[in-house]
Amino acid sequence: MFLLPLCEKNGIPYVSSHLTQKPAPLSGKKVFFETLGCQMNKSDSELMLGLLNQQGFELAESERDADLLVINTCQIRGSAEDKAYSYLGRWKKLKRSRPGLKIAMTGCVSQQTKDGVFNRAPYVDIVIGTQNIHQLPDLVNQAFAGEHNLLAVDRQKERNTFDYVSDITPRRESDILAWVSIIEGCDYFCTYCVVPYTRGRQISREPESILREVNELASMGFKEVTLLGQTVDAYGKDFKDREVKNKDYGLAELLYELNEIPQLERIRFMTSHPLDLSDKIIDAVASLPKVMEYIHIPMQSGDNTILERMRRGYTREEYFALVDKLYERIPGVSISGDFIVGFPGETEEQFQRSLEAIERAQMVLVNVAAYSPRKQTPAGIWEERGEGVIPDDVKQDRLQRLNAEVKRIAESKNTQLLGQTVEVLVEGKSKRNENRLTGRTRNNKVVNFDSPFSEDELLGRCVNVKVLETTAWSLLGEHVDNSP
Ligand code: SF4
Repeated sequence: MFLLPLCEKNGIPYVSSHLTQKPAPLSGKKVFFETLGCQMNKSDSELMLGLLNQQGFELAESERDADLLVINTCQIRGSAEDKAYSYLGRWKKLKRSRPGLKIAMTGCVSQQTKDGVFNRAPYVDIVIGTQNIHQLPDLVNQAFAGEHNLLAVDRQKERNTFDYVSDITPRRESDILAWVSIIEGCDYFCTYCVVPYTRGRQISREPESILREVNELASMGFKEVTLLGQTVDAYGKDFKDREVKNKDYGLAELLYELNEIPQLERIRFMTSHPLDLSDKIIDAVASLPKVMEYIHIPMQSGDNTILERMRRGYTREEYFALVDKLYERIPGVSISGDFIVGFPGETEEQFQRSLEAIERAQMVLVNVAAYSPRKQTPAGIWEERGEGVIPDDVKQDRLQRLNAEVKRIAESKNTQLLGQTVEVLVEGKSKRNENRLTGRTRNNKVVNFDSPFSEDELLGRCVNVKVLETTAWSLLGEHVDNSP
């Protein structure tokens, strides 16, 4: 007999349930997907795969095996855009040898470049914007019927609805973890960022639609959902201007409702913005057993002048006050963030403040990026004019120094866990050693561990693991429960 595993929050146990059914595999024609960029793009790719699945497509193992190649693009940095076109260049050669092959470009580069993609890459059959993914099956049918250069980039959400994705059943990569988009776009217009142009203004998905999806996921055996949004804790702000039932509904209210779904074990959300992470949300994280103690909250720079030039809307002092509040109110919370180095005009002294900020905020994981000018943004225009341009070698040097500092702090924090027992949601076999299992702690640390039980016995369960070794990015341990 299987025992129901017990998960704990603040020492209080709660019961998890067994896995039930799994999603059906794809079948028929073959599609190969390449996804660049953020979790939102990964989630969109899962939605598009779901749509193609309904059309009878199977997932190809490689590009050479596919009838349809799709690249879901990112435009956050020049390198990501270059990478997208480099894939297309490779696919052009494949298409030469197999003229029946179809190529589609989706995502932020498509949204921004529109039919300009066909000028640069005329062999592309389909270009789809960030809010037109529901049109993919129709356009794919047209492409296979012999039409070329098909374009769909009009903004669905300007119709004031998120419905264009609500009814799609995604084809998810994992059987345990699921991304769920709850808000899209951004109203902040930071001076370096293209998201408000590529994803448009903020729009929140209606709670009924999210609750329906997460209930379905839980009944299918999914154990963890990550609520996604470029500014996820701004969820619901736009309800005030829309025809919705409860205009005061926000992320906190949603977390309370999701926490009641019996089969679900863990809820995460990302990415937070310091101006939207309210006391109500912090209280929800602190008190709800299924909401994990992990907050990803980009700071971007530790220097007030740079923060102002980035138009982030807060000072370093305000950011630190927020972080202090998180550590005080949410026991065991881990904080991660994003930083940009080499922003136009950043001096060595200003960069040093970012280095200090990582130590001050005790961040365990930081995505560090060298500033990359984006056309159409104010900072991109400063660079074009040659104002405050930081040479590439200086950017790379700062990137390395900041990464080294993050590694040092992460190593030191993880060392403190040696000998402790942590709760891990089992996600499957370790990629590096298939005799080991892997999962993550409540505060998002990767744990690889040995267990007398099999993957089948533990998949999707919360188990207790004693930490025996640590590195900056993962923990190694042994399963200490006497039963699965
Ligand atoms: S908050 Fe700033 S960095 Fe984040 S998506 Fe919006 S504009 Fe971009």
